[in-house]
Amino acid sequence: MQLYSTKNKSKTVSLPEAVFKGLPEDNGLYMPTSIPRLPQTFIDNLEEYSFQEIGFTVCKHLIGDSIPEKDLEKIIENAISFPAPVVKLDDQKYILELFHGPSLAFKDFGARFMAQLMSYFNQESDKELIILVATSGDTGGAVAAGFLNTPGIQVVILYPSGKVSPLQEKQLTTLGGNITALEVDGTFDDCQALVKKAFLDSELRSQLRLSSANSINISRLIPQSFYYFEAYKQVKKAGKPTVFCVPSGNFGNLTAGLIAAKMGLPVHHFIAATNQNDIVPSYLKGGHYHPKPSVRTLSNAMDVGNPSNFARMVDLYSTIEAIESSPETAWPSMKEAISGYAFDDQATRKAMNEVAETYNYTIDPHGAVGYLALKDYQKEHPDTLGIILETAHPAKFKEDVEDILGHEIPVPERLAVLSDRKKVAKKQRIEYPEFREWLMDSY
Ligand SMILES: *Cc1c(COP(=O)(O)O)cnc(C)c1O
Repeated sequence: MQLYSTKNKSKTVSLPEAVFKGLPEDNGLYMPTSIPRLPQTFIDNLEEYSFQEIGFTVCKHLIGDSIPEKDLEKIIENAISFPAPVVKLDDQKYILELFHGPSLAFKDFGARFMAQLMSYFNQESDKELIILVATSGDTGGAVAAGFLNTPGIQVVILYPSGKVSPLQEKQLTTLGGNITALEVDGTFDDCQALVKKAFLDSELRSQLRLSSANSINISRLIPQSFYYFEAYKQVKKAGKPTVFCVPSGNFGNLTAGLIAAKMGLPVHHFIAATNQNDIVPSYLKGGHYHPKPSVRTLSNAMDVGNPSNFARMVDLYSTIEAIESSPETAWPSMKEAISGYAFDDQATRKAMNEVAETYNYTIDPHGAVGYLALKDYQKEHPDTLGIILETAHPAKFKEDVEDILGHEIPVPERLAVLSDRKKVAKKQRIEYPEFREWLMDSY
């Protein structure tokens, strides 16, 4: 497998290079030079394959000979270790539950797969790999759980003291093993600044092998395409045109769906659902891309004003051969494949109650935005079968959800046990020399 930067298609890198670097120097995003179609017999017989077998086949075609089959099988087995069930609301609407992993959100798939790939490719080095992650709460939990006990890898998580929820803090600080939490006496930006300084410190980097677990890493995107196939497998029998509705922020999830479709998955249409941060829906309507500062909403994992994966979407829909593709040239074909909808918090609250009353199903605020978008789309396309990606478990947003629905909701065991675990975190001041010394002493 070779990958290019969306800002310069003429220079390519290997998969290990893209995984360790995360971002190309030109600040574009890595994309595969080719996205091959899967054999039609595989698509036709999807129901005969397990989720892991689907993951293996999709991955093998995408990454080619970058990893031998025997090793890839093990990687998939370790990464895809929980199910992605589809639940029926009615004949038109289905929910793809992506929250059965350790941190209760779809990001577990990407984090686990990235950990497996990094560990695998790092075997060629005799040095331990140290992953530095600055988190404002959510991503850190998925990364910590995803990398837990991964051979050859140490993870250092920096989070702002007092600025993450109690539950998020437990997810970061109770794992132990190869996961170390630093409670930084500052803001998220201070955490990020410490990580950045470490990466720019060439003397430090000559001693320690450092990498990041950035959300735009291509290894986080790849496994997200697997569950589109897994979902389609579960609704295939209905024989209706299938529409995927994706609650979106940085648009990684939606991009993974577009890749699945390009590989031959018969997707009739995609729906991009956002909260008031409606940059992509308004681009899809008018053809102009105008990033703006994000506003805070109830579905806060989607509060993004300049979605990082938009460059990948543009790349996928660029029809003319250009060194760098543009939103304008991609628009005519992208708007045929994707419809955009945006909703405010008031509509989201109403939708959560509607789903509870009509279907006896508890949907989280992110999924509720998807529900609204699908409902609008199906007013004009009633013969479609829509699958809403439920990106997180409602218990992740317990306080908000209980406040909106007016009753308590059950918390899954794997989350509930955390409240009894002891927090272990090292206090860290925002001065770089101190952080640097600690890194040198510890690893
Ligand atoms: C990260 C996240 C999203 C947004 O996903 P993108 O791939 O960035 O579009 C949506 N919902 C939840 C719960 C998330 O954690």
